[in-house]
Amino acid sequence: MKVLKFGGTSVGTVESLANVKKIVDGLAEPAIVVVSALGGLTDRLILTARSASEGKNDFEEEMVKISERHRHIVESLVPDDRKEAVWGKVSALLKELGDIFKGLSLIRSLPDRTLDLVLSYGERMSSIIVAGILEDAEHHDSLGFMRTERWFNKDIADRKLTDRLIKEEFPLPLRRHCVTGGFISRDRDSGEITNLGRGGSDYTAALIAAALNANELEIWTDVDGFLTTDPRIVKDARIIPTMTFVESMELCSYGAKVIYPPTIYPVFHKNIPIRILNTFNPTAPGTFISESCEGDGRVRGVSVLGKTGVINIKGSLTSNFAELNTRAYNALSRNGVSVLLVGHPGENADFPIVVPENEVEKGLGLLESEFSQELREGDVETIAGDKEMSIVAVVGESIKKIVGLGARLVNTLWRNGIEVKAVSDGVSETTIAIVVRSADASRALTLIHEAAI
Ligand code: ADP
Ligand code: ASP
Ligand code: MG
Repeated sequence: MKVLKFGGTSVGTVESLANVKKIVDGLAEPAIVVVSALGGLTDRLILTARSASEGKNDFEEEMVKISERHRHIVESLVPDDRKEAVWGKVSALLKELGDIFKGLSLIRSLPDRTLDLVLSYGERMSSIIVAGILEDAEHHDSLGFMRTERWFNKDIADRKLTDRLIKEEFPLPLRRHCVTGGFISRDRDSGEITNLGRGGSDYTAALIAAALNANELEIWTDVDGFLTTDPRIVKDARIIPTMTFVESMELCSYGAKVIYPPTIYPVFHKNIPIRILNTFNPTAPGTFISESCEGDGRVRGVSVLGKTGVINIKGSLTSNFAELNTRAYNALSRNGVSVLLVGHPGENADFPIVVPENEVEKGLGLLESEFSQELREGDVETIAGDKEMSIVAVVGESIKKIVGLGARLVNTLWRNGIEVKAVSDGVSETTIAIVVRSADASRALTLIHEAAI
């Protein structure tokens, strides 16, 4: 049994949905199909909710457009005998959504949970429509089995509970295709609607694949596979035919948008391979991601992660960096600040810690209190934050064995006038991460891709 996930562009138009239908109807056995909201809809819902909560009434016009877009797809692709039932369900959801916007425009505020509720309508509607379009499929409401828990200010999947509920929802063997919405979930305690984060449909699909021990997870998107780098920035990015779980995990956590980063853990753990395929070119071989593959020891891909910041701890030359490092890491991660990487201590006895840009202030506060005594006594001179940074990550199993690669790449950047703010500490065997200013990131990515691939 396979799990197939179709992203926003794959379910965005009548033409792309006709491809989805062909792909799923042509399968030899029943599968689970996870779908995103119609392409671009989640962004529109965010903008519309914000605008409504500012008291503007352009939500009425937006609701007409959203409604027409869904109606057009139902009209064009759902067989006549199911059209009314499918449209009945979708239009009831549209009515609720319109009422929520109206409410927001009256109360003039947008609580986080209300925004989560608004966003859920995208996947709730698209999944009903896709189930209606397919030849023989039933709809499953993912709000019934995807559960999250609060972790600091984030909602993260409650893996154990979700795993059990998925097994109950989809008894095996499947009799027909089962279609469900990605991304959306409920809080396990309050029952309120939550989600797994932007791009989270991939993760829904992975959790289902892992719970049911699927043979394969297929991520259907709008490119021919996992590419050596971001094709929107580097035009000659090439398809990677095979790669390992670890490589894909590293590339995605450092910004390769093709898979939502947490997706890989659950399937990696169960050794379920992932295939990246193109809905618009379904016969292309795509990328096969599994435990091991040929060509270890060379660079597989390069990715870039923006919106990061560097917190620099300037110690003294006598500082014990291993201890500073451990204490800094613990102070941050125990309090919900994600440490993206820790750089080499530099010649000036400072060492950089890279965190998401919006966590720099919180991180600074935590580190100032962790090292308050050292700051008073001068063992730590300063702790300072710098925003608008990007990490360029060079990934390949055991590339650390390529002698001098890191130095060569850093040199390439220096020669081209790009300042390197930090280089990763060599903890990972798989990745060399180089931090540059975001203003230099695209050029750095292009230069590194050219030099390394
Ligand atoms: P979906 O809507 O199918 O989830 P996404 O937009 O989330 O699609 O991801 C696919 C997009 O990721 C591609 O269109 C491509 O522009 C971008 N992308 C960034 N880096 C890579 C990469 N290394 N390989 C492939 N695609 C990438
Ligand atoms: N619709 C959601 C988003 O746009 C989830 C997804 O597409 O995976 O982020
Ligand atoms: Mg995506």
